[in-house]
Amino acid sequence: MQIKLNSLPLSQERTILGLSKDELHSFVLGLETHHKRASMRVNQIWSWIYCHGVSSFSDMTNIDKNLRSKLQKFLNISRPTIEKKEVSNDGTTKYLFCLEDQTKIETVFIPEEKRSTLCISSQVGCTLNCSFCHTGTQKLVRNLTSQEIVGQVIAVYDDLDLWKKMKSEGGQSSHFEIITNIVFMGMGEPLLNYEEVKKACGILMDNKGLDFSRRRITLSTAGIVPKIKIAHEEIGCMIAVSLHATENKTRDILVPINKKWNLEQLLGSLRDDVKLRNSERVTFEYVMLDGVNDTKEDAHRLVRLLQGLPSKINLIPFNNWTGSQYKRSSSDRIKAFRDIIIKSRLPSPIRRPRGEDIMAACGQLKSNSLKKKQVYEEN
Ligand code: SF4
Repeated sequence: MQIKLNSLPLSQERTILGLSKDELHSFVLGLETHHKRASMRVNQIWSWIYCHGVSSFSDMTNIDKNLRSKLQKFLNISRPTIEKKEVSNDGTTKYLFCLEDQTKIETVFIPEEKRSTLCISSQVGCTLNCSFCHTGTQKLVRNLTSQEIVGQVIAVYDDLDLWKKMKSEGGQSSHFEIITNIVFMGMGEPLLNYEEVKKACGILMDNKGLDFSRRRITLSTAGIVPKIKIAHEEIGCMIAVSLHATENKTRDILVPINKKWNLEQLLGSLRDDVKLRNSERVTFEYVMLDGVNDTKEDAHRLVRLLQGLPSKINLIPFNNWTGSQYKRSSSDRIKAFRDIIIKSRLPSPIRRPRGEDIMAACGQLKSNSLKKKQVYEEN
């Protein structure tokens, strides 16, 4: 898409964060007609934004004032606003961001010993209504733009003061104190907002900026089968699948998109269509629900289902939320389930529950804030 200067409104409405490098180049070329100089300017602007975290063009001191004021006239570098932030005893930090149209999304920072993961949203709400998921109780409001997706990462870098750490580490984003991994596991189904997610990933992976390698970005899907292969080929990042059941009758209830693309179609496509690269594997998310999907038979069935497919199975103790019909499986049950899978030589870590004291299940902070707003309005 070519951005022409005259196609932009004469106000500071357009934000620079979600623009791809090519789009930014077309835009700068409209201001700085010399091709080579425009490329140099784009690299400088990119570095200021994605390596130094500046939020104002006036801080871009190696760019001449005239160009800076032109940029300022048409673009801004705004981020989503933090409406609420909760920090758990274990360091997990949950953000409720308010977007320009006043819609709300959640982002979670999960620090661990050797890595730190940022879980980001791709939509406001979700249409897929997975019955164990709190976000599934919220209506889809809209897809996020690439700017709003990248904006979540930038806003967390700002809040945790990570730009300085990046600079002291020589611009590398590999230090464990910095965000090492990004997962699209927040609100929404990323493959139903494919183009914006793809564009955002391109920006996050750019090696002159935030520089996340493709292996450190994971798209988690409920199973939008035709898009999985495309995402794997075009974006190249890791794929996680919310499996959660080993039989269609159970998965139809837990992940209703299964009625459209069932287990056979999903796993068949992963086996036949997705060309995994060397040592790559598909991660399967499996939430452990008491008496629903946690029997030994389920575990054996899971092993059979995944035979021949390079896989890793994340067992997730269910995060209880008020109003849910499900309960977390007991620790003994989860361990017995894990032992069966491990015997078949599939890696099967039990995910340590994080941020339980701050309502860490996706979508809860947003619902809570809406409820408070309603009470306030009713009064
Ligand atoms: S689990 Fe993911 S796809 Fe399913 S309702 Fe929740 S956010 Fe949507």
